[in-house]
Amino acid sequence: MITYPGAGKISWSGRLVGVQPRIRLLRSFDERHHNYQGYVLRVNGTCGDQAGEFLIAVGHGAHEKHCFRAGMELSGQSVPVDDPRMEAAEFYKTSGLKVLKDAEDGPSAGPPFFGVPPDLPTYRARGHRRLDARTYEAKCTACIWGCRMPVEIIVDHWNPSQKKYRFETFCYGPKSCAAYRAGPTRRVPGRKGMSWTEEDWVDEDATSHRGRMIEDENSRWSRTAKRQLVMLNEMGNGSAWGTGLIFATGLRHNLRQTNDSTCDIRIG
Ligand code: SF4
Repeated sequence: MITYPGAGKISWSGRLVGVQPRIRLLRSFDERHHNYQGYVLRVNGTCGDQAGEFLIAVGHGAHEKHCFRAGMELSGQSVPVDDPRMEAAEFYKTSGLKVLKDAEDGPSAGPPFFGVPPDLPTYRARGHRRLDARTYEAKCTACIWGCRMPVEIIVDHWNPSQKKYRFETFCYGPKSCAAYRAGPTRRVPGRKGMSWTEEDWVDEDATSHRGRMIEDENSRWSRTAKRQLVMLNEMGNGSAWGTGLIFATGLRHNLRQTNDSTCDIRIG
């Protein structure tokens, strides 16, 4: 991990080895709320005067413009994150992004799955399953369906300032993925020493709406007007960008949307 505590804007460049969604999770006992912020670029190259792999946060607008995918060569400037508990990336507030060279390979058969990640409403519509942290580190850090979320936990609903922080890993990918391991169930601490365990049924509930959705994502790649490869959304349509199409039908969740975020309420 490359760190520059307290530094200003830092120039970086290198090869993009993975792109994943940048999503924060807020937990309060058995409730959870996702905040969809953009994407995290895993870059292997040079950041300031250090060489290695580093994580750059970008907004969805940058992804819409550049259609990031593994294999590209990029450069830009970013700022070290203020609060590492709240970001999976090490750097954010990215500017001056340039694509120095486009990727040459097409989408892989996977796992892990490469190519241009879908838009954020597609991640939201798919829902996720918990993903074992060790499996994520070993097999999923470059997969477009993996996500390492910073988690903020409100321990006491009556005293929201009492918080805990941690990271959790999730998979938005096909249920048939051979690399997938759920890992142990997760406990959410609550007030007065109570805790809530997120059992398997939560994952089943979050993804059961996929139903007859096509599980072989590689058959759903399409070319945009910019001749970039993108993945079709849950309804088999093209990207929601610019179309106003956001929600897939048939979700078992009641999605209450604020700006760039949803609150997931179980209804079944
Ligand atoms: S388990 Fe999920 S994140 Fe990991 S390789 Fe498979 S689809 Fe990708």
